[in-house]
Amino acid sequence: MKLPNLEEARKRNKIDYKTIDFKIDEKLKNKFNGKKFFIKTYGCQMNEHDSENIEALLTSIGFKKVSKYTDADLVLLNTCSIRENAHNKAFGMLGRLKHLKMDKKDLIIGLCGCMAQEASVIDEIMKDYKFVNFVFGTHNLYQLPEIIDEAIRTNKQQIEVFSREGDLVEGLPVIRTNNYKAYVNIIYGCDKFCTYCIVPYTRGSERSRRREDILKEIDELIKDGYKEVTLLGQNVNAYGKDLYEDYHMGELLEDIAKKDIPRIRFMTSHPWDFTDKMIEVIGKYPNIMPSVHLPVQSGSDRILKLMGRRYTKESYLELFNKIKKTVKGVTISTDIIVGFPGETEEDFLETLDLVNTCKYDNAFTFIFSARKGTPADKLKDNTTLKEKEDRLQRLNEVVNNYFLENNKKLEGKTLPVLVEGVSSKKNMYYGYSDTNKLINFTSKDKVSVGDIVNVKINSAKTWSLDGEKVK
Ligand code: SF4
Repeated sequence: MKLPNLEEARKRNKIDYKTIDFKIDEKLKNKFNGKKFFIKTYGCQMNEHDSENIEALLTSIGFKKVSKYTDADLVLLNTCSIRENAHNKAFGMLGRLKHLKMDKKDLIIGLCGCMAQEASVIDEIMKDYKFVNFVFGTHNLYQLPEIIDEAIRTNKQQIEVFSREGDLVEGLPVIRTNNYKAYVNIIYGCDKFCTYCIVPYTRGSERSRRREDILKEIDELIKDGYKEVTLLGQNVNAYGKDLYEDYHMGELLEDIAKKDIPRIRFMTSHPWDFTDKMIEVIGKYPNIMPSVHLPVQSGSDRILKLMGRRYTKESYLELFNKIKKTVKGVTISTDIIVGFPGETEEDFLETLDLVNTCKYDNAFTFIFSARKGTPADKLKDNTTLKEKEDRLQRLNEVVNNYFLENNKKLEGKTLPVLVEGVSSKKNMYYGYSDTNKLINFTSKDKVSVGDIVNVKINSAKTWSLDGEKVK
């Protein structure tokens, strides 16, 4: 049994990791033929992509996927720690599984992802959730087949969570949920330690994949007919800093853009690491989508400092304007936290002022959620929940107005759309524009999922646009 330790996870002396190739234990291949599994994924795209690996690992040892948890022999929760809400949802699901297990004694229940890296969660599971058969962390996902085998053979709770990141594993199997859009990890972990964030502890220090491994994966996706790749990392802009002197995110983006892939996206970008080289490359290559997610979190310098964000409102705006100027037609989205401990009305008005300057195309807005073990959890917080809710509502009204205002400007314009599906309405399709806008459209001729088509925009709504396919 290996338990997580936050103090251990906090240590950032230079780690000496190597890249190893994944190999499945031959004895476990197809061992569980006939068994069914269900995965519930919470949180970000990194987790979604981890679940694509988990699905492939489970399939390789014989499990088959089912769409209802009540039909499964194995239920696995891939969890998220970023906000209390995600935490509560996972524990709520464990409550439902407890009831299911009363009727279905052989049900195997597992928990993985970021929550598994938190010592307090593991304490709770060992004390109050003894029916959970196994837990593994973000650093040892590749050991899933052995962990399940051990849990089933011994009928004892297995907890295998490494506090520190280990080697980087290449060659994990993957079953992608989409045949045209793929996630590609380029860097794991985060060294930024924003004071409110649990990720540097749950995902470990920044570790970049070797460029040749990333480029090979992109080549395979192109061969398989993929139209869009999203390069993933907690902070993709730090790519390569731990590996190479002179090959970082800008260089990687450029090498990928030279390939025959129609659409490239990347997320998430910390403003601190956003280099001029990156901006130049994004502006230069038409297959890098003109859509950037640039989390600001607050418009108050005082709060940005307390958050440990390493930029000021002024330097953020400088970067914002540089991107807008260099990348033609770019849309910029953001994340904003309201009610950070000590945030005053004046600080909040600074945030509104920044939003009024940037007029974002999209914004994910949240009330501060304290995460145990982070520095912000220890800060004094005099703002009431009522005040925080009120600020969130005021902020949402402002950001929503800009979403609509920006979308209105697109009426009458023609946008390229990657078709993702057919809507329930007759002859209606939906997909995303190059600028990452959700487009619903009609078409007189046949359209297939995975096509990139031109759509003329007829009317704008706050969160989507309606149009018709044109030649
Ligand atoms: S950059 Fe900050 S908010 Fe983003 S994952 Fe790292 S610590 Fe968390």
